[in-house]
Amino acid sequence: MLLNPTSASQRGAYLRDYSQKSALPEFLATRHFHEVRNTMSTVKIKFANKNASAFENAGAFIDDVKGRVAEYFESTGRSRHADWRMVLKTVILFIVAFGSYGLILTGWFTPWGMLALAILMGAGYAGLGFSVAHDALHGAYSSNPTINRILGFTFDATGANGYMWKITHNVIHHTYTNIDGVDEDLSVSPLIRLSPGSRHYWFHRFQHLYGFFAYGFATINWLFAKDYQQFMKKDIGPYTNKTHPKGEIAILILGKVFVYAYMIVLPLLILDITWWQFLIGFLAMNMTAGMILGIIFQLAHVVEGPEFPVPDDDGKMEHAWLVHEMITTANFAKENKVLSWYVGGLNYQIEHHLFPQTCSIHYPVISEIVKETAEEYGVPYHYHPTLFKAMGSHYRMLKELAKPETNHETLSAAAGELETA
Ligand SMILES: [Zn+2]
Repeated sequence: MLLNPTSASQRGAYLRDYSQKSALPEFLATRHFHEVRNTMSTVKIKFANKNASAFENAGAFIDDVKGRVAEYFESTGRSRHADWRMVLKTVILFIVAFGSYGLILTGWFTPWGMLALAILMGAGYAGLGFSVAHDALHGAYSSNPTINRILGFTFDATGANGYMWKITHNVIHHTYTNIDGVDEDLSVSPLIRLSPGSRHYWFHRFQHLYGFFAYGFATINWLFAKDYQQFMKKDIGPYTNKTHPKGEIAILILGKVFVYAYMIVLPLLILDITWWQFLIGFLAMNMTAGMILGIIFQLAHVVEGPEFPVPDDDGKMEHAWLVHEMITTANFAKENKVLSWYVGGLNYQIEHHLFPQTCSIHYPVISEIVKETAEEYGVPYHYHPTLFKAMGSHYRMLKELAKPETNHETLSAAAGELETA
């Protein structure tokens, strides 16, 4: 087979050990672990050269897929950045998110009316995250870096730090996609085991039952804990002894104070509601945003199809980076125009991972080029036809990873059975 799903089993041994709970304490104490950790932290993970990839036509595939997409933009004279459709979407989402907030503050509504507006506000926040901030922070929204910087502050204004996102998402997740121990997206919450190399705790046995609900706490965690924790980590993803510019620390603090002030203090001061009524609204808003964001992001990598490749003992990956992105990423529901509009092309994650600096508004068109080229070369193009099918697939992955015995080999075997079923 061209891209062998069981290839992980032939790779470095440390992740297999790492996944076994019983072996963990001993393993953590070994010199080997520290060497591995050190190796991982100083980015000794290296992707194969495109001409030395395990997939022998990698070089030609990579040149062709990049060349054909470049040719599309050249021949049509289109910019890779936002056009009027994107600007219109930005305006609409700003109105939904901050308009709902403004209406809540007017005090014109009953508590039930305010609750409905809080849910709408959460949906608006998730949309702004997907469609405005994500593109802007990737430098994909505009060719002008100042515009990207300004629109990137949407992220900070909704409660999450844009600078830290650029490190954990743009650099770490986009480079080391689905690689255990490095990709930060695989460790979103200790409550959920998202990869075969992560440690299994007893409560993970039930994670398929509570997983989708647990994603709802993502933005609250972000608001009060995650950013601070990430800033304080010395070793983050591939970096060791990471320090952050003072200006970014100031933005973190000012941003959080600003968000706490308008999201918590102001409504409590202005509105004629009790603290528990506020709490219900605050939770409804955040659970809506968190659940939408959490689920949509998981459907790209933790579904049946995408692999969890493992480096060998020297940190070498068997595929070239672009092929690695193809085997670790999935699209879903591309026919669903409303969803595609709202999630900012995050249902076209394959194209997003191949061309992160191209605005999401172009993904539906270039996906045809990428898919055709992948098929021509026999490279996987993972795809789930509807949102619900993709969610079902994520549910089955959570259930598989809920088993303590699930590791890289068993997961690959299970995925292989599902693919051939
Ligand atoms: Zn991204």
